[in-house]
Amino acid sequence: MSDTHAVQHTPLDAKSPYELRVNLGSDVPETTVRSALATGDMGFLHSFTTGATVDGPGVRVVAWTSGCMWRCQYCHNPDTWTMTNGMLIPVARALEELDKYRHGLKVMSGGFTLSGGEPLMQHRFAAKLLGGAKAMGVHTALDTNGYFGDKLSDGELEAIDLVLLDIKSWDPSRHRRLTGAEIEPTLTFARRLAGRHRPVWLRYVLVPGLTDNFTDIEHVAAFAAGLGNVERVDVLPFHQMGKYKWKQLGIEYTLGNAEPPDQQLVDKAVEVFRAAGLMAV
Ligand code: SF4
Repeated sequence: MSDTHAVQHTPLDAKSPYELRVNLGSDVPETTVRSALATGDMGFLHSFTTGATVDGPGVRVVAWTSGCMWRCQYCHNPDTWTMTNGMLIPVARALEELDKYRHGLKVMSGGFTLSGGEPLMQHRFAAKLLGGAKAMGVHTALDTNGYFGDKLSDGELEAIDLVLLDIKSWDPSRHRRLTGAEIEPTLTFARRLAGRHRPVWLRYVLVPGLTDNFTDIEHVAAFAAGLGNVERVDVLPFHQMGKYKWKQLGIEYTLGNAEPPDQQLVDKAVEVFRAAGLMAV
């Protein structure tokens, strides 16, 4: 089968998600794609990486899914927008890969994070993978923009120890310009997680001139503080490590000249979250 061909020639593990990966599943038949999406028995993955320390507590193994419905101007991994840029992997194979690290992850108080792309584009696969990891006794985290949060059942949420929820902006029109999507489904998912007392780390990417409107940041902070389940806020400084991908993919990149925020700006944003009573770094 064509996906087997891709798996044989591209290792599942990558040095980092900044490795450009395209067309690994482009010859997978449409019926196979549909079946994978419907059953979750298989899913499209960009790669597995190990040793991450920023995608949840402790040292993490991260599975990066391909496929995203948003088009964030600052996206670091636009190759993960297209699902079939990833390779089609059976859920059992992904869990087998994770099993290699199970013992080490426990020793290092780490766990497994499912990121992307947007993992909930393949919500059946995400639920099976996270459920399988949890059943292995591994701490599980889901990094998501929350837009398809309603696709997970309450039972499936219980298998996720931590949600890394990306809130990109507050003002609806700024959010639409930045991501191409409405903000409300993300906020609805955040409220649902709060109602179910599921732990959340909120992530806010800080881009000078784009997401550094402090009225917006204050609103995000007040919203997060009001939820009661946000354990930590990560202010993530924008960087240009994914810039080359836009060029290679031939997609217009509007942030080519954008600079990362200086430490003063990062500190100021962190302080807004702290002032709202949140733990922020
Ligand atoms: S939600 Fe994430 S993967 Fe999707 S476009 Fe935005 S930054 Fe990229």
